[in-house]
Formats: sequence, C-alpha cells, structure tokens
Amino acid sequence: MKHIALYSGGKDSTAVLILIKKHGLPLDEILYADVGKWMWPGIDKHMKKVEEYMQMPVIYLDISEQIQKGFKKWGFASPLTRWCTGIKRDEMNRYLKQYVKEGLTQYVGIAFDEQHRTGNKRYQKGEIRYPLIEYNITEAIALKMCYKEGFDFGGVYEHRSRYNCWCCPLQTLDELRILFKYYPGLWKKMREMQWISHNDFRKDETIMSLEHRWWMEQHSNKKKLWKNLIKSESGEECIGACHLCVHRHNTQDKLEV
Ligand code: SF4
Repeated sequence: MKHIALYSGGKDSTAVLILIKKHGLPLDEILYADVGKWMWPGIDKHMKKVEEYMQMPVIYLDISEQIQKGFKKWGFASPLTRWCTGIKRDEMNRYLKQYVKEGLTQYVGIAFDEQHRTGNKRYQKGEIRYPLIEYNITEAIALKMCYKEGFDFGGVYEHRSRYNCWCCPLQTLDELRILFKYYPGLWKKMREMQWISHNDFRKDETIMSLEHRWWMEQHSNKKKLWKNLIKSESGEECIGACHLCVHRHNTQDKLEV
C-alpha cells in the first residue's frame, strides 16, 4: 500500500504534512504539480524547507510547459473553464495510476471547516484521507500550525487567503489590489499576459481596466482627471491607466491604491 500526500504548497497541505509527521502516519511520497513561473517567486525556498522538514524529497510533476501552451491556446482561466486545474488533475491521476493495483491512499488537504469540498471528483484513485478533518483542524488553525513550524510562505498569507498561482483570475478584487500595490514586478507580468491573452482577465474586465477602475476611485475629482488626460494627450505625462492605451509601461509609481 502506497501513501501519497498531494501537496499544493499552501497552508492546508503543509499542515497535513505536519500532522503526518507529528502523528507518525505512513507516508511514501509527497507529490507536487509544478506550474512553473505562475507560482510565487519564493516557492523554491519554501519547497526546500518542506523537504528538510519531512526528511524526504518531493516528487515534482513538471506541468509548466503544458500551462504555458494552455495559456496561449485558451487564455485566462475562468470559473467555468478552469483548464489549468484540469491539467493538474490529469497529470496527478496519470502518475497515481501506477499504484492503484498495489493499493493507494492519498492524503488531501481539506480543512475541517471546508468539508463540503470532500465530494470533489478530482481525487479518484484509491482511498482518500483528510487528516485536517480527522484531527479537527480548521483553516485558521492550519495556518497557525505552519507558522509555528517555521513555514512563512514568503508573507503571502498576510494579504491573501490562498498560496496558489499569483496570476489566478479566480482571486478576489481585494487580493488583486494587494498584488497591484505590493508586487509591481508580478503586476507588470499580468499586463503582459493580458496583451497575449485572447480573453479578458475577468468577466468584462481586463488588467488595464482594473487599473483604470482603481485610478478612477482615487481621482473622483473630474477637473483633476481631465487635467491629467490632457497632459496624457499632449504626451506630457501618461497616466497609464487607460485600458485602450497602447503603452505597456508600469503605473505602480503613479497610482496609490
Ligand atoms: S490557482 Fe488559478 S490559475 Fe492556478 S491552476 Fe488553479 S485555477 Fe489555474
């Protein structure tokens, strides 16, 4: 019987590893689907820490190329077309298939207060165990456990509820504002992605129109707005916040959110 922890990098699946270690649950492999540069810049450091903590190597399924190809083909994911999650699920299932005959137990990081997610058909192979539910660990407790063991996720959980792809179109508007405000390098990449993608980042909203919206919120004074636009027209100063604008430069230093 093989025991495999499905690892996402986030707090819940990290808390599962902590429980496995603390309670001596059987574990043969830690499996991680690597989406490449869509994951947060500090992920390599974090994964190294995980390997040291668990005293075993993580098995990486490199799906970064498929993700890049998928993006060129389908553009940004949406609640109805989560093609990137599909790639992850398919690759994981393909890998796990080899163990089904000998017997397989998958550890999945679903918290005690998220039990409605256990019906997810994504985890099809073998037996499924949810250690966070077995040990009554809620999402908030899971994060505390991770911090206590020295996993800080590069500070991402101070602003966001998930440690998943920074460019995920399913994140909240508040999380997007934070990305815009604190991670200018990543936001610049978002703009570049929007230029490539054939669909809008969110329903009827591009990355540039989001910037525009935040800019408008801040500059409700019309006189000031027109003054800026006139300046922009004359080439004196580009506000960079118009979604029709062909300029690709970053506006971080000009906007305050
Ligand atoms: S986190 Fe978002 S972008 Fe990343 S794989 Fe999941 S749905 Fe896709």
